Amino acid sequence: MLEPIGLEINNKKGYIIVFKCKKCGMIRKNKAAKDDDMDKIIKLSAKH
Ligand SMILES: [Zn+2]
Repeated sequence: MLEPIGLEINNKKGYIIVFKCKKCGMIRKNKAAKDDDMDKIIKLSAKH
């Protein structure tokens, strides 16, 4: 149920995607994987 809500840029790790659980509101951060759709994520994060 994790929904991407934002994007952070880390000097060492690169792109970090911020996810929020739709059920409980928990925030989770995951390093962006190569196969992630970055355009989509950037558009999502730009809304906030
Ligand atoms: Zn949850």
